[in-house]
Amino acid sequence: MLGQRSIIHLDMDAFYPAVEVLDNPELKGKPVIVGGPRQRGVVSSASYEARRFGVHSAQPMATARRLCPHGIFMPVRMARYREVSREVFAIFRSFTPLVEPLSIDEAFLDVTGMERLMGPAPLIARKTKEAVLEKTGLTVSAGVAPSKFVAKIASDLDKPDGLTTVPPHRIQEFLDPLPVGRMWGVGKVTRRALAELKVETFRDLRQVPVEALERRFGKIGPVMHLLSRGIDERAVEPERETKSIGHEQTFIKDILDLDQLRKEILFLANRVAHRMHREGFTGGTVSLKVKYSDFTQIIRSATLSDPTDDSQEIYTTACRLLIKKTAAGKRPIRLLGISLSGLTPPGQAKQLSLFSRDEQRRKRRDLNTALDSIYERFGEKSIGPATLIPKG
Ligand SMILES: [Mg+2]
Repeated sequence: MLGQRSIIHLDMDAFYPAVEVLDNPELKGKPVIVGGPRQRGVVSSASYEARRFGVHSAQPMATARRLCPHGIFMPVRMARYREVSREVFAIFRSFTPLVEPLSIDEAFLDVTGMERLMGPAPLIARKTKEAVLEKTGLTVSAGVAPSKFVAKIASDLDKPDGLTTVPPHRIQEFLDPLPVGRMWGVGKVTRRALAELKVETFRDLRQVPVEALERRFGKIGPVMHLLSRGIDERAVEPERETKSIGHEQTFIKDILDLDQLRKEILFLANRVAHRMHREGFTGGTVSLKVKYSDFTQIIRSATLSDPTDDSQEIYTTACRLLIKKTAAGKRPIRLLGISLSGLTPPGQAKQLSLFSRDEQRRKRRDLNTALDSIYERFGEKSIGPATLIPKG
């Protein structure tokens, strides 16, 4: 039986714009919007000043410009955000090794049992916030609760620079009035289905019989019921939470042609690399999944000498696996997938550019940064296989 846990969820406030303000202090207090250029791109992240005009992430840039004509529009600088992210995660890890990264600017900390050494969890959260502000100049919002689920909801309630604590005996009172949209992972479709059941708040949800939820949502139904009561036993998992990062694609028509397969692999490699960059991971093992037209499936893997997040290296390795270890070109293929495992989490990844003497690698890094910017500006669908096949 688990004792009472103390979990802190930390989420940097408007991270990309905040880094831009850090690097250009004259932007402080202004509506800074980070994203794609002119009419075609989307907003990656907007400062709180810009959000007041209704600007939000994933919004088309054209809309953001209409809503906030005096906004300061800036391009995405992923390399810089990753650099700051590494500093922030180093600070988190100076409090406890039990840090589970969720993304480039978000993490869970498990501080259970640290009270005697460092004081109660809310105080540790405050100290973490102060350390981040002092060492990086950035603000982070914190949620403190006995579970990951409640801590994550709590950190979002008082942004920016918030600190919300939910003690065990107040969990139900805290959750009940909140809209179910606050539930982590509940998207538009689920929300609409819940609305059909007349469920709008956590209180509504917890009053629906669990059987009804199971009938409507399958396995996830009972989970939602538990969460609505604040029950979430998931542990903070420092390295294991993200075991692999991958992407796969089923084709409209089975593919026999090797050149076409290579193009698809390039597309997948770019998507996977982009996710690695976004979440700050590097990975040591590249796996290629192949499903043939008769639905038999194989997975072939290669371990690299150094962990990578480089799209070109992922592409080359996956192509080698395809040619040497599969029946590509002989048997039609209906699905390809690429994943990276053996992941090194954000903040622990080495800074390649600092010690690499290999000019080739540095150039590729620049290319990756450029790819990231394009993805950030135009969305992941913008780069198809045909546009990026390398020459030679
Ligand atoms: Mg954030």
